[in-house]
Amino acid sequence: MKYAEVAVNLPGSRSTFCYAIPPQLNIDVGQAVWVPFGSRITPGIVVELSDQPSVEATKEIAKLITDYSPFSSMQIGLARWISRHYLSPMFDAVALMLPPGFGRQTITYFQLAKPEGDLPALTPEQTKTLHFIREKGKVSLRELERKFGMKEARRIGDQLLHSHLVVKSQELEKARVKPKVVPYVKLIASKNEVKDEMVRLNKTRAYKQAAVLEFLSRQTQPTAVSQIRKRLNCSLEAIKALENHRLLSIGLVTIRRDPLSYLKLKPTSLPVLTPSQEAAWKSIQGNWNHGSPPVFLLFGVTGSGKTEIYLRALDKVIAMGKRGICLVPEIALTPQTVERFANRFPGRVGILHSGLSLGEQFDEWQRIKEKECNVVIGPRSALFAPQPNLGLIIIDEEHEWAYKQEDKSPRYHARDVALKLAELIGAVVILGSATPDIESFYKAQMGVYHLVQLKERITPRGYSPLPKVNIVDMKEELKAGNTSLFSRSLLTAMKESLAQGEQIILFLNRRGTATFIQCPNCAFVFRCPRCSVALTYHSVESKLTCHRCHYAIPVPQTCPQCFSRRLKFLGVGTQRVADEVRQFFPKARLLRWDRDATTKRYAHEELLGSFRDHRADILIGTQMIAKGLDLPQVTLAGIINADTGLNLPDFRAGERTFQLSCQVAGRAGRGLKAGKVIIQTYSPENYAIQAAAKHDYVSFYNQEIDYRRQYNYPPFSHFIRLAYSHTNNDLCRREAEKMSHTILDEREKKGITGLNLIGPVPAFAARVRGRYRWQLILRGSDPAQVLSGMILPQGWTIDVDPVGII
Ligand code: ADP
Ligand code: ZN
Ligand code: ZN
Repeated sequence: MKYAEVAVNLPGSRSTFCYAIPPQLNIDVGQAVWVPFGSRITPGIVVELSDQPSVEATKEIAKLITDYSPFSSMQIGLARWISRHYLSPMFDAVALMLPPGFGRQTITYFQLAKPEGDLPALTPEQTKTLHFIREKGKVSLRELERKFGMKEARRIGDQLLHSHLVVKSQELEKARVKPKVVPYVKLIASKNEVKDEMVRLNKTRAYKQAAVLEFLSRQTQPTAVSQIRKRLNCSLEAIKALENHRLLSIGLVTIRRDPLSYLKLKPTSLPVLTPSQEAAWKSIQGNWNHGSPPVFLLFGVTGSGKTEIYLRALDKVIAMGKRGICLVPEIALTPQTVERFANRFPGRVGILHSGLSLGEQFDEWQRIKEKECNVVIGPRSALFAPQPNLGLIIIDEEHEWAYKQEDKSPRYHARDVALKLAELIGAVVILGSATPDIESFYKAQMGVYHLVQLKERITPRGYSPLPKVNIVDMKEELKAGNTSLFSRSLLTAMKESLAQGEQIILFLNRRGTATFIQCPNCAFVFRCPRCSVALTYHSVESKLTCHRCHYAIPVPQTCPQCFSRRLKFLGVGTQRVADEVRQFFPKARLLRWDRDATTKRYAHEELLGSFRDHRADILIGTQMIAKGLDLPQVTLAGIINADTGLNLPDFRAGERTFQLSCQVAGRAGRGLKAGKVIIQTYSPENYAIQAAAKHDYVSFYNQEIDYRRQYNYPPFSHFIRLAYSHTNNDLCRREAEKMSHTILDEREKKGITGLNLIGPVPAFAARVRGRYRWQLILRGSDPAQVLSGMILPQGWTIDVDPVGII
């Protein structure tokens, strides 16, 4: 007997279950199967085969769902790693790789056990139900529920099952997506026949039919029925009548739903590399075949031509008969990148993301699987595209948080999974960024990655220096009596740019808005006396709390430093910025870009297009405008308040502020004119802001890595966040305390040293959609160790290597 370990769709369970393989079934790793689980039959994926069962009593696999394996053993290997590393259920990890629309519900059906026979004494409801089932032959539980009510249907169903009058079966619901087929018309009549028929039809006043014939006789290709009907305004009957006379034939043609059909492709030739690009490309080529496939960290300032290097690398793998995947942080924000790839590889670019219709996703997925795409572009989930013979994984803007899945299990980081995948299949990885993640740069320093640099920015003027950055101390503005959101220098610069007919972007960091309190008079920020992180404002309890140690004080009325009573929450939205701009520049045309303004599909493209065409002078936006936009007419970028990010209770606050400031600065002066950047802050001396103003990543890195080392933050340690949420705050806290004791006991029992437990504390977003959240943070060299073998109670989530605020 052979046995299979099966990952079953069971929320929260990290283990797999052992089943015996009946001899008549031919089963491979990666197969989708039906297995009995409790009293039901449920879908599962085979993840391992063995000759020995892992438990004493095993049930048998019921049957195959698909006769082919949806997964390769490599994919199962990757899923295993994800499940182990991120402490997530194996099924969740496997589910990442399922084709679009595969996640289907199971449906329970009832049928009569014996077609006919004497019925025992039954209640009227039972009789009625039984008759209903007999009449229909096969009835789904849902149908019974609709007819008799949910409780009643289940109760009677169970009774009938129990007395062996009916049997139950389970099936997957019908596939939600299928290839799209469209009826097409082809003329079969000869020229002469058409002539004769037209005469006949006109005589009998069948003018529409005649018109259809005439139209078709001029077409060289089969034509869609819908197109004919629209062009000639005729009925389907007219076409059918011609079909009946064997003058034309109607057939079904599969249509590809193409998400890039809106692009007007302009095939581009290879540009001559600049000397810097040439050097970078040489270095990549030189190290390509050194032992195990390398990971390159392409560190190049914004606009230095990294995309061109990605395209060259793709050319190289394609020449080797392989293919690539390119991840971008958020596809809606990178229409320009997609366009450049599509122009370079016309018709050979696949695109996968959740913004596409399920039909488009399905068709793209099939195309990719059928080897039609040189490269697949998409957000983190595109890493799991079924790209055959994958030889290169590119991660653009590798430092972005968007690569981490935070909202559901598995809480994976696409960069780390990509590195693992590349290792499993022997693919090359290129990580690109102007401001690499501190942890990535550290690995490059340690020689784990090959560092490749691009130092100059390419503009139509040739190489150009990065824009000059001025730091404005907002405390001085207040002293001078300026209480507006804009400093005097920003106002002057805006006035100049507008007078020259140039464009401006104003950046507002929305993350952490109104979460800390700062005195606008003396810039005092309330901090924890024990941990020094900024205290977080909790509107629920009207308190300021420390996220490290749970120190809390009521919201103060006056500033302890200058006794000002003007304490305010730094809660400014794009609306407020727009209002102030209008006051100062009533004639300027404004565009607002934030998540609220852009929920429609293609809204980003439209907004961006309209700004690029200079239909607006000022673009006001949040994080989203900082991403890789190429806006040549922007000469001024203003950061309204750099401190919002700095005062987040997060060890990465400095890194984020630095990255965002650099990104915003990188937006200005990419065209013919030099750019200018103004950073407004209450902390002008902060090293993240100072380094951003000088565009000096390395100096920032050097200070940051010292700080990380000193406080034992990543990359010198690892974090795991455990979070519990519930509508009852007290219950939530008690549950977190209980968990904390359990973990401390485990630590003791397993003799683990060097593991800190931080918390329990309310999570940064302590209340989300009416649910309270408390969290525990584990920190150590291998914090997962303490959790091995532990089963977390329902309601807990695990986030390994969290990137959000901790
Ligand atoms: P990055 O990806 O580093 O931000 P891009 O690849 O967007 O930089 O390049 C910035 C600009 O320079 C783009 O407009 C691009 O078309 C142009 N560019 C890149 N490489 C070359 C080259 N070799 N010759 C001419 N223009 C180039
Ligand atoms: Zn003060
Ligand atoms: Zn504290």
